[in-house]
Amino acid sequence: MIDVLAVASEYYPLIKTGGLADVTGALPAALKPHGIATRTLIPGYPKVMQSLRARETLHDFADLFGGPARLLASGDLIVLDAPHLYGRDGNPYLGPDGKDWPDNWRRFAGLGLAAGELGSGGVARYKPRIVHAHDWQAALAAVYLRFWQGAAKSVLTIHNLAFQGQFPSKIFGELRLPASAFAIDGVEYYGAVGFLKGGLACADAITTVSPTYAAEIATPQQGMGLDGMIRARRASVTGIVNGIDTEIWNPATDQALAERYDTQRLQRRQANKQAIEQRFDLDRDDGPLFCVVSRLTWQKGMDILADTLDSLVAHGARLALLGSGEAWLEQSFAAAAERHHGRIGVIAAYDENLSHLLQGGSDAILIPSRFEPCGLTQLYGLRYGCVPVVAQTGGLADTIIDANDAATSAGVASGLHFAPGDAGALDHAIARAVALYREPKIWAQMQRMGMKMDVSWEKSAARYAALYRRACSDNAGGLFQLIEKRLER
Ligand code: ADP
Repeated sequence: MIDVLAVASEYYPLIKTGGLADVTGALPAALKPHGIATRTLIPGYPKVMQSLRARETLHDFADLFGGPARLLASGDLIVLDAPHLYGRDGNPYLGPDGKDWPDNWRRFAGLGLAAGELGSGGVARYKPRIVHAHDWQAALAAVYLRFWQGAAKSVLTIHNLAFQGQFPSKIFGELRLPASAFAIDGVEYYGAVGFLKGGLACADAITTVSPTYAAEIATPQQGMGLDGMIRARRASVTGIVNGIDTEIWNPATDQALAERYDTQRLQRRQANKQAIEQRFDLDRDDGPLFCVVSRLTWQKGMDILADTLDSLVAHGARLALLGSGEAWLEQSFAAAAERHHGRIGVIAAYDENLSHLLQGGSDAILIPSRFEPCGLTQLYGLRYGCVPVVAQTGGLADTIIDANDAATSAGVASGLHFAPGDAGALDHAIARAVALYREPKIWAQMQRMGMKMDVSWEKSAARYAALYRRACSDNAGGLFQLIEKRLER
């Protein structure tokens, strides 16, 4: 067994704002058959602390960025109990005013430092061989390991390059890193401190959540200022598509559905469709019902969707939208629901059960993201026979086969693609989906094709396991970095 410490700011079912939690929650079980024993380090938010039953103190920090802290072990979780950093209800990143907590750098430097301590052998009872940091909130783990010369190898996964954790240079002095870490191969980023940038510079291996996104972020157009760094580390960057938990997301057993079904009993989805119509106050008819389950943000292309709603209704379709996020978008969708009463229904909330029902009863799910590192809702859509209509970007491009003529006649289409960032292209895709829906044989074939696809963690877990093994056995990792550095010069 290889001991891997995963480090993340979210973990399903304890704390979730997006796909990151689904990944950190599901990957450990999928890795176990590959000889990987994962424990996951997460911050001790109030909800997490309340859920802990048996707990054992692994380590005490007399002062972790402004207060005492402890590492508590509970099953496969290691919780960083630091009330001065995490003892606040609500969203893990934002205060009640909707803005980032002003001390986020301390909160997530604390997480990274605790992981660095574990990976450097500072905790007698647990010495992981790999520290796997997820996103900027955990990225400093790789920096501490590098500059403290910890024994563990580090892996950094980018779930979304848009979130980088950048802070003014004045915090550097408090990070407990040597002065040499404020440099191009450390946390220095255009004169400031970049947590993700530091992780990218220091990690032994870098992954992101789809091969297409791995290629996209190496370009100036989509590299969000870090494309140079990604290119410099190209030899260490791999794209591994996310899987889903196929037990939690199983239409044959899902208790959140009005009616359960499988590929042989697709007609049972009808009861779920009716339940959605009721919940979203929609007319009943035999036309297609689209759904959206999303953060309401610019990244997700929600403004583009809002601009195409009149046309969606004109195509004879209906929409049930579940989402929360930016106020202007919530208002825009509420206005559309008012304009098109019975055709567009909106619930501005975060509701896990309702998201299952939407996948289990809608005909298609719309995902118009401007960029999408992997995306999970299209995978849930595949699993539930809710045909994904997706922007052709990142993981959406990698996981959905467009219903072009070739794919349809070969019987391998599983959804529809359209060009990202373009209302006209989205509108055209909606029209295509409506037309395909009117051909029940083709539509059902697409549904079944999606439902049969392997969207589990099986293949990707094997890839992560292979990556861990390479990192462990491989001192070539260091060598690669030396070569990369030479090439950079
Ligand atoms: P991201 O992590 O960028 O938000 P993903 O598609 O990777 O996007 O993951 C989103 C996750 O959050 C999915 O599990 C999705 O079902 C869930 N989700 C998003 N918005 C809502 C909502 N309003 N209610 C319930 N679940 C939601």
